[in-house]
Amino acid sequence: MNADQLAEIRPALREVAEGAPNTCVTFEVEGAPENWIQIVGRTINAAYPYSDSPEEKLLSLGLPQLPAQLASWESDRFATFELAEFQLNTVAEWIDAYFVGVLGGVEGEYHLDVIMGSSPIQDRPPIQACDECGGDYITASSQMWKLCTECSHYLYGYPLCDHVFVGKKCTKCGWSGTRSKYIRKIIKAQSEE
Ligand SMILES: [Zn+2]
Ligand SMILES: [Zn+2]
Repeated sequence: MNADQLAEIRPALREVAEGAPNTCVTFEVEGAPENWIQIVGRTINAAYPYSDSPEEKLLSLGLPQLPAQLASWESDRFATFELAEFQLNTVAEWIDAYFVGVLGGVEGEYHLDVIMGSSPIQDRPPIQACDECGGDYITASSQMWKLCTECSHYLYGYPLCDHVFVGKKCTKCGWSGTRSKYIRKIIKAQSEE
């Protein structure tokens, strides 16, 4: 067991389990934020750097079985699982195994940044600035805590808004075309595939 990593993962998971469904945690490998796992309620969404189906791939990589179903995935982007039950230790050990087996972390050596999103949506301002692109967006339109619909799509695979633009602003999500350098890079890479 990787005691250091589990000591970082467990307390955050406990907060999510107790605060469900409105609490969210994102684990990112220090120095390699493209390696992330996010838990919201009973949903686990994780970076997934392979092109074959996660179900077989995870078995072949020797990951422990999780009482969860694959909900959706995209090649070389992400995989989303729905937990049937939230057993803290099982989920914590699976997350550690995922960082090592799937995302290439060095067992017992990698370190995590733990980002909690704990304020329920009703306590947040109706319009807020996106952490990634800096643009204002309608808080309730996005499933992510501090990201607009566009950034949460390109970073974490959440569905895109069916924008309805009036002038330069979408009336549904409030996005007005702002893009960070990093998001531009992702879009460019995708269009070249
Ligand atoms: Zn954004
Ligand atoms: Zn929109």
